[in-house]
Amino acid sequence: MANLSQPRFLDYTTARTIADDFGTPVYVYDMATLKANAAAVLAFPNAFGLTARYAMKASPNAAILKIFNQAGLQIDASSGHEVRRAIAAGVPAANISLSTQELPADFAELYELGIEINACSLSQLERFGQACPGKTIGLRFNPGSGSGGNNRTNVGGPASSFGIWHEWIDQVQAIVLQYGLQVIRIHTHIGSGSDPVVWQKISGMSLDLVRQFPDVVALNLGGGYKVARMESEVGTDLQQCGAPVAEMFREFAQATGREIRLEIEPGTYLLANTCAVLSTVQDVVSTGADGYDFLKLDTGMTEILRPSIYGAQHPIYILQPEAATETRDYMIAGHCCESGDILTPAPGDPELLATRALPLCQIGDLCVIDGAGAYCAAMSTKHYNSYPEAAEIMLDAAKLPHVIRRRQKLADIWANEVALD
Ligand SMILES: *Cc1c(COP(=O)(O)O)cnc(C)c1O
Repeated sequence: MANLSQPRFLDYTTARTIADDFGTPVYVYDMATLKANAAAVLAFPNAFGLTARYAMKASPNAAILKIFNQAGLQIDASSGHEVRRAIAAGVPAANISLSTQELPADFAELYELGIEINACSLSQLERFGQACPGKTIGLRFNPGSGSGGNNRTNVGGPASSFGIWHEWIDQVQAIVLQYGLQVIRIHTHIGSGSDPVVWQKISGMSLDLVRQFPDVVALNLGGGYKVARMESEVGTDLQQCGAPVAEMFREFAQATGREIRLEIEPGTYLLANTCAVLSTVQDVVSTGADGYDFLKLDTGMTEILRPSIYGAQHPIYILQPEAATETRDYMIAGHCCESGDILTPAPGDPELLATRALPLCQIGDLCVIDGAGAYCAAMSTKHYNSYPEAAEIMLDAAKLPHVIRRRQKLADIWANEVALD
């Protein structure tokens, strides 16, 4: 279990320097952790080869894409725009795979560039067949059950629209036949924060799908590996999680003579603990004897939305030159005029508030929200209350800070607006 008595990679001096030089709120990423996570993913157990992709929607900054691509990871894109963004960041087209809810209008052009496409619905498969007859395609299936940290991150089972429902194989085969398509990959991604046991079960179900498509050479089992952000949470041991699945691939090869390549595409696992949001306590207020002591930060759902929508828990630290010995139970609020902008919801319930015991706090103290790498900079209520996008900083191997996204200029927020006379 990680010792989480202090931030994972930020100490007071480094944090103070970054706050003084770049301002707050600011995302601070740690390059050494990014590289270590990439190495762990690339060592995932496999029987007949591995392609590991980074699910770029977790945090799509060009600097991160470049570090991962150089480390040997390919890219999983969730929209046509993400594909274009990865190409713009210098990722070779052949290293990008697209699984999307909305097939972009230019998908045939992307395919010609070398992008791999997974059809995620019958109509996507039909459209692909019409535009690219006789070509190779992957199929994303909804295997019938899923797993996720909560209902919103579970993307398998009848309540999820992701992928082709597993019972529609006959319709799939008919479209494949009609257009002479070559199905080379089966894809199943069942959710974020999944239970390793459920994941193993789904791997077996996915191999059953592979059985039905003789041209398939690769099975993509998606991402979803659970990460411990909080001390009380249990993260996934990739070696332990992958070993039984590698064994299933071996058994499948013995039974069918087919050696299937494994593909995985984690986002959270690679990013979650590589970044912290560094903020400043800008107010301390009390709501009386029966109320709460609130810390108000200069960040909130504009940089980190997960607590508000999932009740997600993030480690929170107050950094002071001399750590106060007295502690207090604080509720932590963001800076948006929105009662849901709370950084300390009850675990898994964004409607309920909880407090955190923290050192006695003063206006101007630095506050670190850790575990903020995945689905934070990428997924926020950007521009609500007209707060500009925060800067993103990368600490290099020597812990020196580099800007990887400048703080947005205020006027850029309304640059596309047209006032009518
Ligand atoms: C979001 C997503 C992933 C990554 O999920 P994590 O929980 O971040 O690991 C992988 N594959 C697909 C298709 C996705 O949509």
